[in-house]
Amino acid sequence: MSEKKETVWASLREICDETRTVADETGRKVKKTACFSTMKALLEGAFHLVEYFEKLHREGEVFRSNSADMFRFSLATGEMQKREPAKKEKEMGRTEDETAAADVLLAAGPVEINEFLAPELVECIKEGTTAEELPFTVETDRYFMAVFLFEYFFHTGSPFEGKKMVNRCFLSPLEKEVFRAEQGQFCMDLGENENTPVKGIQDKLIHYWEEYPDILKKMFQRAFMDGGTLCELRPTEVDWKQTLVRLMMDYQVCGCGFQGFSNRLRPKENGTLLCPVCGKTYYVLSDGMNRILLAEGVKLYACQTGRDAFDKDTVTAVVAENRQKKGLYGIKNVSKGVWRGLFPDGSTREIKEGQGIPIWNGMQVRFETGEEWSLRLMQKAAPEEERQDIESR
Ligand SMILES: [Zn+2]
Repeated sequence: MSEKKETVWASLREICDETRTVADETGRKVKKTACFSTMKALLEGAFHLVEYFEKLHREGEVFRSNSADMFRFSLATGEMQKREPAKKEKEMGRTEDETAAADVLLAAGPVEINEFLAPELVECIKEGTTAEELPFTVETDRYFMAVFLFEYFFHTGSPFEGKKMVNRCFLSPLEKEVFRAEQGQFCMDLGENENTPVKGIQDKLIHYWEEYPDILKKMFQRAFMDGGTLCELRPTEVDWKQTLVRLMMDYQVCGCGFQGFSNRLRPKENGTLLCPVCGKTYYVLSDGMNRILLAEGVKLYACQTGRDAFDKDTVTAVVAENRQKKGLYGIKNVSKGVWRGLFPDGSTREIKEGQGIPIWNGMQVRFETGEEWSLRLMQKAAPEEERQDIESR
């Protein structure tokens, strides 16, 4: 009988460091790795953070802080917690030192001078506005969120830290942040090389930046363009949710053990993609803007085929082999929604729960709502698929 596994919570700082310090049985401090167990958990965590701000703003509130230490994430699932009182902290396995340090930080007031402060807030502090009077807004929250997510995804420091800032000596945190607010350049700006990341110091950023698809990088480039002073460009909660859901849908976990975003799959001339490890074929279903990859065992979700663009959890379809025709695959509808699809015999049919549509070159399907999706192989089409409907049950 194994004991129920304890949830391990990590702060942004620990996630950035990819290590956390815990006390062992004897009270001695030891370092342990702090990495999300899966990409899904990491993306879920980011989604929870964005949802927190969305809820707050819907209620007409703002965060009124710039403390990243307020949030903790379960490394196994991405579940998020806002900071709890000291007693709960102890239950969560924090050492007293850690808890005390965090308490001091919080007691020091809502504001420390750090990279999470939007440029307009730094400007206010420079002009002498006190912490209590700082004009936090939905826009300053969006700045906070973008900086938080940047550090969270790339395990790094401020998005404005690059050779321009690293090589400079600042006499105080305020001086540093004023410089950033007035002259800061996003270190990952396209076509900019004045403030690029520094090898040996920002290796993690350089490494992780390569790992993610462009849709994520573009969000940060937009958020931090012109030093992040353009409030109206800062991604909203909905923008982030859309991006995170797209990343979740794009991430493939192949049966062979390979995991990665679809940009890691190998493109073939005919437009299909191959798993780089086992060579499994992924067919690309496209609506002109987005794509859904189809391969044996792949699940589709309500955000792809249903009415809720943010429902990334409800499975609505599975790609399965026809039980009677080995080697023939189809998309089986396991939702209550009714789809319409073009079948190999030229007929258009309704596809209800339990029914399916074969995957073939030329297929078209309209899910519960939205655009028409189609599959077109380039060049000479693959040998014509056998014209056989997927088993209807
Ligand atoms: Zn594979």
